[in-house]
Amino acid sequence: MDDAIRLLLVGYGRMGKLIDALAAEYNCEIVGRLSSTTASDEGALGRDRWPNVDVVVDFTTAHAFLQNAPRLFELGAPLVVGTTGWQQEGERIRSLAQRTGTPVVAAANFSVGVTIFESLVEGAGRMFAAREDYGAWIHEAHHRAKRDAPSGTALVLESALRRGGYTAPIDVASTRAGSIPGTHTVGFDALSETITLTHTTRDRATFARGALLAARWVRGRQGWFGMRDVLGIE
Ligand code: NAD
Repeated sequence: MDDAIRLLLVGYGRMGKLIDALAAEYNCEIVGRLSSTTASDEGALGRDRWPNVDVVVDFTTAHAFLQNAPRLFELGAPLVVGTTGWQQEGERIRSLAQRTGTPVVAAANFSVGVTIFESLVEGAGRMFAAREDYGAWIHEAHHRAKRDAPSGTALVLESALRRGGYTAPIDVASTRAGSIPGTHTVGFDALSETITLTHTTRDRATFARGALLAARWVRGRQGWFGMRDVLGIE
């Protein structure tokens, strides 16, 4: 087996704890766990404090990530970031990564299944691009605690259809109720038939597993990557 890699977890909420619980399966060792209280301590994100970290994994909040970013990029280790909601500052973050020579894997959804689903949807966009008699829609449903709507993943799927060449309108709708696990459907409808492609996330461990795969993969690489790069999907 490959050498164990040492991870610093920035954010120790639901995702941080799941990554901790699954790390051993990916031969990863957790050497530090920072949360909102501990990360604000003087020197908590200092390079001297973490001389032996191989990869930093951030699952915090958009605000925390943007605030911590300058220090995260000075740690001298690649970064895997799953935190969502900071994309409007994406250019600034990318240039920080470039300036400090920090390899980054950033993904709004680390699930292997969703990454493959996105590729399938891009292919569907390509095939339906010339079929004006088929209308497309995206529907996503999540538990009632999820605040953003449509979900980041629904927007990623919409872009995948567009990348595939689909130019007709796409109706995007959201549902928030009860404990619904994250569900995304991309559909096409014509006079006499309907096609639906659906991905359902049954539990959040899929995101943690994807982040651990990304952490193993990014070591020794240079650049800015997404989950498609990690999986080798063109
Ligand atoms: P959570 O609320 O359970 O945990 C957030 C953690 O961040 C807490 O431990 C909190 O103490 C910590 N934190 C807050 N401010 C901090 C700071 N300044 N410095 C360090 N730590 C700080 O949230 P979660 O469910 O674990 O999700 C975390 C993030 O990951 C969210 O942005 C969520 O949207 C995203 N997410 C992404 C994926 C993906 O696949 N990319 C999957 C699930 C969740």
